[in-house]
Amino acid sequence: MKRTVLKFGGTSVANLERIARVADIVAARQAEAGGLAVVVSAMSGTTNQLVDWARGAAGEDLRGEAFDDEYDVVVASGEQVTSGLLALALRRRGLKARSWLGWQLALKTDDAHGKARIMGFEGEDFVRSVDSGEIAVVAGFQGVDDYGRVSTLGRGGSDTSAVAVAAALKADLCDIYTDVDGVYTTDPRIVAKARRLEKISYEEMLELASLGAKVLQTRSVELAMNHRVPVRVLSSFEGAVPAPGAGTLVCDEDQIVEKQVVSGVAYSRDEAKFTLIGVEDHPGVAAVIFGELADAGVNVDMIVQASAKSEGRQNIVFTAPDRDAPHARQVLEKAREKIGYENLLVARDVAKVSVIGVGMRSHAGVAKTMFEALSAKGINIQVISTSEIKISVLIDASYTELAVRALHTAYGLDAD
Ligand code: ADP
Ligand code: ASP
Ligand code: MG
Repeated sequence: MKRTVLKFGGTSVANLERIARVADIVAARQAEAGGLAVVVSAMSGTTNQLVDWARGAAGEDLRGEAFDDEYDVVVASGEQVTSGLLALALRRRGLKARSWLGWQLALKTDDAHGKARIMGFEGEDFVRSVDSGEIAVVAGFQGVDDYGRVSTLGRGGSDTSAVAVAAALKADLCDIYTDVDGVYTTDPRIVAKARRLEKISYEEMLELASLGAKVLQTRSVELAMNHRVPVRVLSSFEGAVPAPGAGTLVCDEDQIVEKQVVSGVAYSRDEAKFTLIGVEDHPGVAAVIFGELADAGVNVDMIVQASAKSEGRQNIVFTAPDRDAPHARQVLEKAREKIGYENLLVARDVAKVSVIGVGMRSHAGVAKTMFEALSAKGINIQVISTSEIKISVLIDASYTELAVRALHTAYGLDAD
């Protein structure tokens, strides 16, 4: 049986008029779908408000997210509201529909509250219900842990809920409806000349997402790649049934004929740079530093090590999410004796700009183009990191947009 999953983001369900519009889209899509599941986010702005409330109540100011099971009880509530509202709007149109919360789906996660990972999802009752023709309206972003507690999947997690539901249903397609009409060569909100991509490979999308393009949550792309779920990104502000060729298909690399050297440019302002000055230069020091940070749940990204001015000492520079900066600083200050460093500097006004493309595997000179384009704009590079299909640089945050635009032009990505 043909099964389809649709997901609507926060802007698409921002108020009752938009929910009515979503109900029209769902009604139109039901005609062509066999079984239909619709995953919804909270109304835009709601999750931010809920996070603020949870933090305020907990008195938590150390972490960007207060990782607590009660925090999840609060922040998951936004999706409960929209799932019920959409089910009501569908029933009003004479359609059979019901809402499903994370615990009702038995969407099992680990207990890393605030950023839980999906562990498994059987959902037999759910599959039966979808196949019976009842439209399943799923509250995105939420699951349940082994202790029966509500969990949430990290910001943007409804994308991941949608792909998980699509994988469980063995759906033919997972359509992610959002406020842009596809995946662009870079964020269309900051580069007017950004171009919509007809197709993008899972691998490139994974890099784009993890390097800052929030159009899809990174884990949703990971999950789609592992389960080979075809994902399409579409606008919820266009016709009820997508025109042929609308949106962007995230698919296998071999389904893409025209390959670019660089497919996209991403940026992230959620970065902080830590410099440990005068760290003793002997084996095991890096293991202590990054061990302490890992135990504290801080995700470290770029790492550079260089000789310090003092004899027998070195400097270690690394980046971590800015929202973790106060917490990471505390961890390092507490471990000062154990690590043995002279000074710690934390810069929070930095941004990471990255270029991504599978074509890099077989083309030389990609880094050169990047460095020349940035230097032509007088932008200083603080840290560089590379992988097979991306190059990232850390720069002063005030140059972010300038850098993204310059790189977009330098790699020939500008729309005519
Ligand atoms: P939703 O609420 O529907 O989940 P998001 O705000 O999470 O929507 O994601 C959509 C936003 O992602 C767009 O409004 C756009 O500004 C941003 N974005 C960043 N990079 C890209 C990109 N490369 N292509 C498309 N959108 C992007
Ligand atoms: N409502 C959640 C958030 O704002 C999940 C999502 O929208 O995907 O992060
Ligand atoms: Mg999103």
